[in-house]
Amino acid sequence: MNVLVINAGSSSLKYQLLNPTTGELLAKGLCERIGIDGLFTYKPQLPGKEAIKAAPVSMPTHSEAIQAVLNALVDEKNGVIGSMKEIDAVGHRVVHGGEKFAKSVVITDEVMQAIEECNPLAPLHNPANIIGIKTCQELMPGVPMVAVFDTAFHQTMPPVAYTYAIPYEYYEKDKVRRYGFHGTSHKYVSQRAADMLGKPIEQLKLISCHLGNGSSVTAIDGGKSVDTSMGFTPLAGLPMGTRSGDIDAGILEYLMNKYGMDIKEMVNVLNKKSGVMGVSGVSSDFRDLEEAFEQGNERAGLAVDMFNYGVKKLIGAYAAAMGGVDAIIFTAGVGENSASQRMAIASGLEFMGVKMDEDANKVRGEERVISAPDSKVTVLLIPTNEELMIAMDTEALVG
Ligand code: AMP
Repeated sequence: MNVLVINAGSSSLKYQLLNPTTGELLAKGLCERIGIDGLFTYKPQLPGKEAIKAAPVSMPTHSEAIQAVLNALVDEKNGVIGSMKEIDAVGHRVVHGGEKFAKSVVITDEVMQAIEECNPLAPLHNPANIIGIKTCQELMPGVPMVAVFDTAFHQTMPPVAYTYAIPYEYYEKDKVRRYGFHGTSHKYVSQRAADMLGKPIEQLKLISCHLGNGSSVTAIDGGKSVDTSMGFTPLAGLPMGTRSGDIDAGILEYLMNKYGMDIKEMVNVLNKKSGVMGVSGVSSDFRDLEEAFEQGNERAGLAVDMFNYGVKKLIGAYAAAMGGVDAIIFTAGVGENSASQRMAIASGLEFMGVKMDEDANKVRGEERVISAPDSKVTVLLIPTNEELMIAMDTEALVG
């Protein structure tokens, strides 16, 4: 079975065509500057096929973008499938499923309406995801489509983990609660971890650290998310590339009064100008920060240290919440690539049975145990694969 995975943003769209049974990736790529001018990237994974890199292609709407993807996939010379009939299903990433969706679902008219009802919870992302779905329905009539939500995996959290200590009617009436994000990634790496450890996931307590430009840590007990660091929005939890993570809400009033900012300007500072970018004044990219620190920039060092310290504290907190931990997983850009940050995060956790293997840890982007053989807690490096997880969920529902 071939599944086309679509991740539609407001002006960009990522896609992959893959076989979830074998894991084989046939092609992937990106449409950028939709509604502006249009740039098209196509990377076929079969031998002898030529890639297209950021070629100008007119994309006034998502429709032309997805049509360009379909044309490339079936192209006589550089395509990877013979015809559209070889696309058996489409899996769509949808950011917010609110409390309505605790699992991936086959898209029907009722499901579309329920996703639209979640729009106020993710006003920047969900409407773009919906445009992606509607466009695919128009261009591929009759092909089954599945929605896979970033929030769904975290719907197993208990009230004690998801309730905010504000008047309860804000939860009852307005659905203000912790939702958590990166669920597809946390689910994927937790399943891989169970495979690597050779144990049923139901018997495992895992802490999954998705550390990238956006970062979140999740406590997974028996295969279920029981707590996670992102909240009502992805602004919560760890300091990130440009997002502040958790701060004292009282700071907002103080700064808004002092600098005459309205709430939009304040939230823009917290989303776009904060995190390791804000602290370092150098960059949101951890590679730049390591380089800047080596050249003597103390604030770049402080930003990385704050981030690592935040992850370490969450690991301690979630081990306490679950009453133990069998394995800690590192994934995403920083988690997969930065040996020094993994080391900094795990060091000092020896008291709770974490012992790293320095040599095994000197690795990038491959599945591997990076703790010492006598470590009570196994530390795993697992490259995430959200597209494969989306395709697997799609296959499970329509296959
Ligand atoms: P992601 O959001 O998962 O794509 O992660 C992107 C982030 O991973 C980038 O912003 C970098 O900060 C980080 N990253 C990628 N490679 C490395 C590396 N070798 N060392 C440190 N950080 C890295």
